[in-house]
Amino acid sequence: MADRLLLCPPRFYRVAYVINPWMEGNVGRTDDAEAARQWQTLRTALADRAELEAVDPVPGLPDMPFTANAGFVLDDVFVPSRFRVPQRRPETRHFVEWFRQRGLRVIELPGQGSFEGEGDALLQPGERLVWGGYGVRTSLDAHRHLAELLGVDVVPLRLVDQRFYHLDTCFCPLPGGRVFYYPEAFDTESLERITARVTPERRFEVGAEDALRFACNAVVLDGAVISNFASGALTERLRTWGHDVIVCPLGQYILAGGAAKCLVLHLDHPGTPGRVRSVSDIRERTVEAQGDLLDTGLMNALLDRITEGGGDFEIEAFRPGLRHDQASLARVRVIAPSLRRLESILADMLEAGARVADEERDARLETVVQDGVAPAEFYSTTIFPTDVRVRGRWVRAARQRMDAVLVVEHHTAEPAVVCRLIRDLRCGELVVCGVDGVRVEGTHAPHANDTFGFMTADASSERRVELAVERIAWEMRRVRERSGRVVVVASPVVIHTGAGPHLARLIARGHVQALLAGNGLAAHDVEQALYGTSLGVDLKRGLNVEGGHRNHLVAINLVREYGGIAQAVAAGALRSGVMYECVRHGVPFALAGSIRDDGPLPDTIVDLIAAQAAYARLIEGADMILMLASMLHSIGVGNMTPAGVRLICVDISPAVVTKLADRGSIESTGIVTDVGLFLNLLAAALAG
Ligand code: NAD
Repeated sequence: MADRLLLCPPRFYRVAYVINPWMEGNVGRTDDAEAARQWQTLRTALADRAELEAVDPVPGLPDMPFTANAGFVLDDVFVPSRFRVPQRRPETRHFVEWFRQRGLRVIELPGQGSFEGEGDALLQPGERLVWGGYGVRTSLDAHRHLAELLGVDVVPLRLVDQRFYHLDTCFCPLPGGRVFYYPEAFDTESLERITARVTPERRFEVGAEDALRFACNAVVLDGAVISNFASGALTERLRTWGHDVIVCPLGQYILAGGAAKCLVLHLDHPGTPGRVRSVSDIRERTVEAQGDLLDTGLMNALLDRITEGGGDFEIEAFRPGLRHDQASLARVRVIAPSLRRLESILADMLEAGARVADEERDARLETVVQDGVAPAEFYSTTIFPTDVRVRGRWVRAARQRMDAVLVVEHHTAEPAVVCRLIRDLRCGELVVCGVDGVRVEGTHAPHANDTFGFMTADASSERRVELAVERIAWEMRRVRERSGRVVVVASPVVIHTGAGPHLARLIARGHVQALLAGNGLAAHDVEQALYGTSLGVDLKRGLNVEGGHRNHLVAINLVREYGGIAQAVAAGALRSGVMYECVRHGVPFALAGSIRDDGPLPDTIVDLIAAQAAYARLIEGADMILMLASMLHSIGVGNMTPAGVRLICVDISPAVVTKLADRGSIESTGIVTDVGLFLNLLAAALAG
């Protein structure tokens, strides 16, 4: 049986508007006579190999000759397009009419999702398999419905380059299970889907030379591949696969972003097997979000997470808060090309404050089968309070922290949930997998944190830093009044900037309950206490001291001689400074080792895991954490700290401050300023 194709003469064809990047700059620039000639040449090449039918063109619908976008035909069913772009929507009526008159069943896709016909739905010859393009014009939802309606397998392929806005611009299936395509037009997962289905000897990747000249936009008929262009390499490959290559120049249509395949719709697909119990991997779930969705930008952030994650969405309901104090509510259907993708998008959305809305389910638990290794689908935690549904009841996770997994324990009558690092997992433990039965408390919103600029050009910033410090001092006093805990994370910059004595004073006055640092802070603090220098610079006069570069080594050596900082203090060898005040006032400290360390001091914990554990112990129960000019230790501490702990990050680099503020916690304040100035102001504000 010969193929049958639907064409539409280009009588009214021109570039009349811009709906893809190819059309830009080409409005009104087509040459009618040349366009007609090119179309005739294509028609002749097609007529030799297929039966052709034509639909009448309609004035005012210049893109009608691109019949591939009319819809999709399989068996006796025509599924009309639901154009995403309004300019092409009026075409649908005329195509539907044509198919009705020829006795085909016209069945619209359920739902609202856009669908642009064969342009985004390419049947693999001889198989009941549709490659489904989405991400630019056609929605994922449409492919899910198409699979069910027609009993076909659909493999979704996400398009990521607007120039390749329909699948048929960058992908061409051939008989014998073969394909050729332009990989750059797809995301990584889509490429994996192609390679999972098509063995290497059956696929051919074209380069930009072919892709940009619409080589993939080819009509494949009876041993021939008809296209605007084919490079030498592509031609050779197609010949080895047994195809003639027929080149029909279609430059006039490329002005509008189309070529051979776009000008053709298959009216039947000879050799396609009968219906299968359709199984597309496309999955969906509904999520809800509530809060200041508009003013905080949360709504945008949520939708971005879906599209960036390779999914699609449909907003089912949106009720905006009409007053400042009223929350907005959104219900969003999230559609993803696979269960794995869906779960990762949902986990991202949960983190941003949404919750899965479908009927409540218990969390899915999987057993650990290797110590220190989590089951593949593990849910990874955030800093926000998290509840897990176990046997119909919501249980709050203990020891909330970021980048851990949730372990469900049944040791007691009531199940318990705890956040645990992957390395601490033991065989037999039950780990929460996927996002079912996980609820994250949405007390947070992006951009809700403050960042004060000082080192920026803004002249008023210095005053703003002063105001911020006054506010922090007030909070610290209140923490002390209720016997709360302030933890300081600090780097040697504190000493280099001459702020060591300010920090020492805060410790001596009982404003600091724990100190987290590295070898560097302690080494330079001891150096300063013994010699008045930091990295060899005299801190009083700001001058390099001759031979001073070895001072910190001498300091380290001295502490090593005594066996530790506390011992050096006890022996009277160390009599001032930050570390001295910690020892004198019984303020616990943890010094974490790093690859940069000299010495190290005997107190420095060089076992990374032990150092992390020591930090975690000292953070427990903290009300406030002051992070002073240490990118390494501040970010490390940020990851261990649950939401709800007040974080103050002071750094001269906005990037470090933003990184911490990006936790999205409303409790974090970033201050971009010199840490010496900050501590000077803070010690003064707390002096009274
Ligand atoms: P880091 O690079 O992680 O952090 C330093 C931060 O200070 C940066 O974010 C920078 O922007 C900021 N900064 C610089 N000048 C500033 C200023 N005037 N005001 C405010 N912020 C300022 O480095 P780190 O935390 O110092 O050190 C990383 C590791 O190296 C630590 O473990 C540390 O102990 C170790 N170290 C060891 C030695 C030593 O043993 N002699 C010396 C230095 C560092």
